[in-house]
Amino acid sequence: MEQQSGAVEGQPCPHCGKTTGCGCERKFVRVSCQQCKNAPCVTVCPTGAAMRDPKTGIVTMDAGKCAGCKYCIGACPYNARFINTDTDVADNCDFCLNSKLAKGELPACVQQCKYDALVFGDANDPNSFVSKLLAVKDSVRVKPHFGTEPSLRYIPVVKLGV
Ligand code: SF4
Ligand code: SF4
Repeated sequence: MEQQSGAVEGQPCPHCGKTTGCGCERKFVRVSCQQCKNAPCVTVCPTGAAMRDPKTGIVTMDAGKCAGCKYCIGACPYNARFINTDTDVADNCDFCLNSKLAKGELPACVQQCKYDALVFGDANDPNSFVSKLLAVKDSVRVKPHFGTEPSLRYIPVVKLGV
């Protein structure tokens, strides 16, 4: 999922309100499941379908248990959950846990990003690249005041002279 602060053709710009001729700068921010350590989606799920993988700690789904009540979609403060149209049950980004990670590969988005903007790894391993990156770069979390303890980190782009 992407959230943006600029205009989309045919839709009013969220900044200036113009439907056409908007000159606002477009900024895209990738907002996927934040992999909360204190995950509301897991807490509210009445069937245990929204769950944490016991081996990796990744928030994922047991699709066979999903009742389709959408409680988890309402509870997620990041608007990161959705009904998967392929499976007709709730879903979230789980870093391709059962597909790519199961084969020892990186998540599909990390593989495909041609600008290397996405980094995936074990932040609990001090020797991992992601740990070393976070040790030397300032990073922020999205809406930490919700108390969800999101795991994803964003390294802001700093424009010199701004
Ligand atoms: S971002 Fe939403 S879907 Fe992901 S773990 Fe947090 S509450 Fe659950
Ligand atoms: S939609 Fe499925 S995963 Fe979400 S709360 Fe209901 S049963 Fe749990």
